[in-house]
Amino acid sequence: MPPPDQPASPVFVNLGPRSYLVQVGRGLLKTLGEEVNSKLPDRTSCAVITDSTVGPLYAETVLQSLREAGKKPHLITVPAGEASKSLAKSEWVLSEMVTAGLDRKSFVVALGGGVIGDLAGFCAAVYQRGIPYVQVPTTVLSQVDSSVGGKTGVNLPNAKNMVGCFHQPVHVIADLDTLGSLPAREWNEGFAEIIKHACIRDASMLQAIEDVAAGKGDIVDLIRRNIAIKAAVVEADEHETLGIRALLNFGHTLGHAIEAAAGYGRLLHGEAISLGLRAAAWLSTQVGDLTSAEYERILALLKLYDLPLRLPDDLDTEELMRITRTDKKFENGKIRFVLLRKIGDAYVSKDVLEGHLKQALEELRK
Ligand code: NAD
Ligand code: MG
Repeated sequence: MPPPDQPASPVFVNLGPRSYLVQVGRGLLKTLGEEVNSKLPDRTSCAVITDSTVGPLYAETVLQSLREAGKKPHLITVPAGEASKSLAKSEWVLSEMVTAGLDRKSFVVALGGGVIGDLAGFCAAVYQRGIPYVQVPTTVLSQVDSSVGGKTGVNLPNAKNMVGCFHQPVHVIADLDTLGSLPAREWNEGFAEIIKHACIRDASMLQAIEDVAAGKGDIVDLIRRNIAIKAAVVEADEHETLGIRALLNFGHTLGHAIEAAAGYGRLLHGEAISLGLRAAAWLSTQVGDLTSAEYERILALLKLYDLPLRLPDDLDTEELMRITRTDKKFENGKIRFVLLRKIGDAYVSKDVLEGHLKQALEELRK
């Protein structure tokens, strides 16, 4: 591990011609312009796309840094929140890009959480058939998850993430100083994905997660390790065709159903995933070989970050099952479901039946 005043080495995402670096550290917004210039020396005009919460906090630093590096940035701000991840809002952003005079030699900077990353990435992917973009994630969730991997897109009124495409960023800058302004709930929900990463790929991370909760851990190192896990999975299965990237769905089948049944916005994504993780870990003790001691350890980690472990009483099992059945992973009453052999070792099981899922949901009521 480097001493504290040394920047952590960047994570390399090796995707052949689409490879890129993820810089992780503190104080990175101030040097963003130079960094971007080194990746895109021939491009000048750009759109900095952000939201109404993040913009007032960080846009000026980013704009100034870009100007000092000789770039011509245009700020485009959308309202904070998931509702901005829509086709209507992407049309508005794209029109603003035209008005700003951006062309095929321009680029996009996505400054914000996962909503901005997905929306700005999508706009970059389709603007004049595709221009490069840089991810500048400002939430725990977007730093460890959505900013790496190239999944971009928007929601339809009745279906989340239904429109989009793969478009890898050319660079990612994860400045942990931006996390200082994150509300506690948003901070904690990001740890649901961090705990997921530990569960599927790296048991040794549990200690680091506990240390950070106790205020004594190295958060830069923890975020970096998570980005490295996400990068490794994406490298092995860039377009989610081989079943490897599917391991990242651990806790997400029931988690997504719970998120949808609660009504989007009531439970944060990470909070719904906390419930999904509990259910999937419990199923791993029933259908797979996870020990009850390991299951309890996962629950203890979720509790450390105030993540929910009990299903809200008004969510009905049949309704949750109805939503789960619409999941594309379901076939003939069987589902491809990610389980754990042990913490740090996930696999796709075909042995999980509908009855098991109902039992797991009942377990979440205890
Ligand atoms: P978000 O972008 O809505 O951010 C959450 C809230 O925090 C927003 O209100 C935002 O304005 C605010 N915020 C962001 N950074 C802040 C900061 N530094 N200080 C203070 N407030 C700040 O949501 P998110 O949780 O970052 O991401 C969720 C989205 O990511 C969802 O749309 C989800 O579908 C998507 N996602 C995409 C992928 C992918 O691979 N593309 C993966 C996971 C999630
Ligand atoms: Mg998730």
